[in-house]
Amino acid sequence: MNRRQFVKNVGLASLLPIAMKSELLRNFENSLTDRRMPALFLGHGNPMNAVEENEFVKGFRSIATELPSPTAILVISAHWETSGTFITAMDKPRTIHDFGGFPDILFQQQYPAPGSPELAKRTKNLISSTEVRYDYDWGLDHGAWTVLKHMYPEADIPVIQMSIDYTKDARYHFDLAKQIKQLRDQGVLVIGSGNIVHNLRMVDWRNINTVGSGYDWALEAQEKINELILSRDHLSLTSYTKLGQAVQLAIPSPEHFIPLIYTLALSDENEEISLFNDKVLAGSLTMTSVKIG
Ligand code: ZN
Repeated sequence: MNRRQFVKNVGLASLLPIAMKSELLRNFENSLTDRRMPALFLGHGNPMNAVEENEFVKGFRSIATELPSPTAILVISAHWETSGTFITAMDKPRTIHDFGGFPDILFQQQYPAPGSPELAKRTKNLISSTEVRYDYDWGLDHGAWTVLKHMYPEADIPVIQMSIDYTKDARYHFDLAKQIKQLRDQGVLVIGSGNIVHNLRMVDWRNINTVGSGYDWALEAQEKINELILSRDHLSLTSYTKLGQAVQLAIPSPEHFIPLIYTLALSDENEEISLFNDKVLAGSLTMTSVKIG
């Protein structure tokens, strides 16, 4: 029963006292709100997080316990950039080890979650601003599986990925993401996976696991962007190239930042926004993650 049908039924039940009718309506609206799935941006960081124990993976596990159980998961990962927008539509996405120079144990990891051609179709049908094409080759890259492994270790929830069109700017991605907002009301957990401050050229590799010591510009960018997220200043965030030198150093290329734009576009006005894992790592990375709703 949709809302209109419900209201009609309440209207027909004219014998019910008004107070009872309004309570019925209120309960129904609350149940709709209850079912709305939060949306997440996750700072995924080092692929080794997949097999290590640290405060960030604890954060991933902890946030999963706060969420209703999703019917399916859609990930927009920094590590899948394409010309045009693609969506994985295979039954069994492979685990992609899209990195080099890591220990064997990381290459042995598998995340055998099923795909969901049905969700791929539903998502494609919601997007009218561009033609979304099905993909049968990609799978789950480390932006997806290294975090999902902690959140849903059973790998029993279907997962699909949508690519980032590298030919488009942040505003384009914001407008595209808005079109899939209703997936949240269908129990789908949408996750943008990247890192907000992400300057690999300036990473202090000798202290790759050192938390809390950031370059001045990294701390400045972290503070500025966090403020804009919490004040819902989406216009400034989609114009991030104009936010000054600190932010330019923090976002030397767009791919790890754009997934945040997808997550923010799914928020409603007045919806709760909270940050977690909000720490600087190795001087020039932040693990800041965002929960909407
Ligand atoms: Zn990454």
